Amino acid sequence: MTKIEYIRCKQIITGNPCQEPIDNGCIVHDGHVIHGVGTYSQFKNACSGEVTDLGSVTIVPGLVNAHCHLELSKLKGKTVSGEGFIPWLLSMMAHNYREIDFIAVEQAVIAARDQGVCCYGDIVTPQNGKIIDILTNLGIYHTCFFEAFGFLPAVSQAGIFPHGKTDLGAVAGAGHALHTTHPAMLKEIKRKDSKMGLPFSIHMAEHEDEIGMLMGEKNSFYKLLEQNNLLGQYVPPMKTPIEHGRDLGLLDSTTLAVHCVKVSDKDIETLANTATNVCLCPRSNEFIGVGRAPWEKFLDAGIRVCLGTDSIASNHDLNLWNELSYFLKRIEQSVSISEAISLITLNPARALLMDHKLGSLEKGKIFSYAVMPESIIKGEKL
Ligand SMILES: [Zn+2]
Repeated sequence: MTKIEYIRCKQIITGNPCQEPIDNGCIVHDGHVIHGVGTYSQFKNACSGEVTDLGSVTIVPGLVNAHCHLELSKLKGKTVSGEGFIPWLLSMMAHNYREIDFIAVEQAVIAARDQGVCCYGDIVTPQNGKIIDILTNLGIYHTCFFEAFGFLPAVSQAGIFPHGKTDLGAVAGAGHALHTTHPAMLKEIKRKDSKMGLPFSIHMAEHEDEIGMLMGEKNSFYKLLEQNNLLGQYVPPMKTPIEHGRDLGLLDSTTLAVHCVKVSDKDIETLANTATNVCLCPRSNEFIGVGRAPWEKFLDAGIRVCLGTDSIASNHDLNLWNELSYFLKRIEQSVSISEAISLITLNPARALLMDHKLGSLEKGKIFSYAVMPESIIKGEKL
């Protein structure tokens, strides 16, 4: 028989950006699924099971990190910061980044789980299915995106990308970016993801060299790809990444566009009109030195915005609370606490098509929660 239990706390933020926080909150659960959420006074007369009083804390849904590369977990402190994309990339390449330290991956996942992270949108190179096992064994939900890179050979590779459900999520295909991955390959992976009811992820408009290369510049990034035989018969589309992505049919409500730092107002309009999800990685952008995305414009345009840490190779930690704190301290408009929490809960859960299970504290969803640090409430630096 299912054992019903209750937790009680000072406040619940449900993850729904339109819902006010619930004071003196109570969650009814059976250890796996939520049976009810409301005020303690609503449930106290019916309470027949054990009540755990968490005291003076605010509870939010389990956190969802919309964009990460866990396989780079061994690179903490190994890359240069603030010098721009190419110096950062070269410093990463100098550390044999393709050889994965799975112990470092596991430690990173455990540390983030202790901070309340229950789900990832994680970028995985195709030969590294072991990351899925690590996440599954630790009870972490996921969409693991196997990422295509390079301009040759194109479509024939798409067949090697596994797609489908796992015990705690899914494996989907992703493209690295429009200046690094063959357009036919991107279209094929997006088509396959959509056919399987899976999300698609792609880095977009992260840095100037990306924009320049798409506009026909033979810049340092172009030369780096050429030296590594990754260019094939690259033809610059003479469009912005957002325009090119739209014209290839990559933008819609099941696509997660990651970064979107170098975007025009017209690009933002395109992202809004196509209902594309945007994942901002503010600390990664600062770490690498590529600038800051127009966060306020995305919110004003009604775009579903998520926050992601990106990898430890371009961040100080994988702590989503630190990402949110950084964002809230610098954004130049007011954001309610419910809206703020939705950036690391409901919005990424929706973008990863996991919101039937995760992202908000409501009846029928998985019982997973995080405790909001006091510093977020007070606006202090973590
Ligand atoms: Zn990334």
